[in-house]
Amino acid sequence: PEEQIEADPTKKTLVILGTGWGSISLLKKLDTENYNVIVISPRNFFLFTPLLPSCTTGTIEHRSIMEPVRNILRHKKAKVKYYEAEATKIDYTRKVVVINDESEIKGDTSSTEVPFDMLVVGVGAENATFGIPGVREHSCFLKEVGDAQQIRKRIMDCVETASFKDQSDEERKRLLHMVVVGGGPTGVEFAGELQDFFEQDLKKWIPEIVDNFHVTLVEALPNVLPMFSKQLIDYTEKSFREESITIRTKTMVKNVTDKTIEAEYTQPDGTKVKEILPYGLLVWATGNALRPVVKDLMAQIPAQKDSRRGLAVNEYLVVNGTENIWAVGDCAIANYAPTAQVASQEGAFLARLFNSLAKTETINAKLAELSVTQAKTSGEERTRIFDEIKELQRQLRRVKQIGPFEYSHQGSLAYIGHDKAVADISWLSGNIASGGTITYWFWKSAYVNMCFSTRNRLLVLVDWAKSYIFGRDVSRE
Ligand code: FAD
Ligand code: NAD
Repeated sequence: PEEQIEADPTKKTLVILGTGWGSISLLKKLDTENYNVIVISPRNFFLFTPLLPSCTTGTIEHRSIMEPVRNILRHKKAKVKYYEAEATKIDYTRKVVVINDESEIKGDTSSTEVPFDMLVVGVGAENATFGIPGVREHSCFLKEVGDAQQIRKRIMDCVETASFKDQSDEERKRLLHMVVVGGGPTGVEFAGELQDFFEQDLKKWIPEIVDNFHVTLVEALPNVLPMFSKQLIDYTEKSFREESITIRTKTMVKNVTDKTIEAEYTQPDGTKVKEILPYGLLVWATGNALRPVVKDLMAQIPAQKDSRRGLAVNEYLVVNGTENIWAVGDCAIANYAPTAQVASQEGAFLARLFNSLAKTETINAKLAELSVTQAKTSGEERTRIFDEIKELQRQLRRVKQIGPFEYSHQGSLAYIGHDKAVADISWLSGNIASGGTITYWFWKSAYVNMCFSTRNRLLVLVDWAKSYIFGRDVSRE
């Protein structure tokens, strides 16, 4: 890349928290020469989450869906500072963010403050556990790369331990019972990937587990994938039955121990029965909860007192009750589902807004300067300046024409295993619902196209080819 413009103390400092869908989409489109931009995130890469479930079984290697933030930043016109740290507190009145280096290696300084003029909060969300006892201690989640690696390891650990000499039948059965809690798209996609792993590879490599390997998906509501249309819900449930994945709907998990989950099943007559399910692997995918740093910020702003699920924002994504803080993605509540699609559109909107704000300021400064000069001149020079002012005013009107954020829903897609996917696609103000193998090819091509870079795209294609030709790698790292 060309030499980057250095930081300029006369410019405003724009601090961006997070390197996920919202923040990276903002960075991609932001003219960084207009601000002194600082990015803070404990994760020094962007993660393409839609393909994360495929990393749990090794269909795709995790590095294929990661893009280093340093690579993104080095292509920006002006220098952007990046600190690998977690924002632990946003002090609204002092306009500073407290940051902590949470990585393994720490220097003499591992905690400090970063002042800001403008702040974008894009820290995403945590895994919801609803305070259910035992969840944090005994389950795997599926949000970050480390989670997918842990699941991959545990699947193989369960399989090998189940094959241990003299293991009792009952214990083998427990170890090979893979339970997924949460029938949203994360749970459904993971269950599908896991069953594929069993059908396509594990079964062949370790035939002794064939009779006992079993995937169960537990959902509290009467059906899975509530955000999809009814026919796709039915299609998914039917496909799961055919793939031998058990779906337990109307079953709310209440307690988790190291070897069992305790759930409450609501029978058709409305009465509740308690059930105990022994498990070997438990993956918990019950959606999002607020991060502590977001909770703390909300507590500082009176206008946020009625907001429960995240930072309430206005139609320009300004955090209600503040003037210089914006929020994007899963930590912001703007009446849209917490998806990558929403987060990336919000990020792109903020980039346009900030680019336009900067241009407005430049034009206003020039206008102020010209009107002073105009007052001192006469004749032809005065007319020339007058024309210049008119042109700048025209430009200003154009630049300021930025309407509020409007989300454009492209549709929902999910992989359901056995080379099938479901899709609700928005089309000419209508909706097309489709499920099956053709939809799976559509899913594949859509996600390859959406990958962050050409490098990511190529790596994903190579991984798919590798798994298809050689099977998935069953070594436990
Ligand atoms: P994230 O992408 O989660 O990024 C948050 C960032 O903030 C991260 O970089 C994190 O390290 C950083 N951070 C965390 N804490 C702090 C802190 N204290 N200080 C500073 N930085 C911090 N959506 C879809 O639309 N389609 C899909 O197919 C899809 N598939 C998904 C599959 C899975 C397995 C999962 C888990 C989610 C999926 N989603 C999908 C949802 C989507 O990933 C999220 O909605 C999206 O990531 C939200 O973007 P975000 O920028 O708000 O947060
Ligand atoms: P979710 O919130 O969509 O679903 C969680 C499910 O867990 C809910 O159906 C809920 O009823 C159930 N649940 C909660 N507590 C339970 C309990 N104690 N026992 C049993 N079931 C319980 O969560 P998600 O699937 O992680 O998705 C999070 C967000 O990410 C959503 O907005 C989703 O649309 C998005 N996402 C999208 C895709 C995709 O488009 N392919 C994939 C993954 C995630």
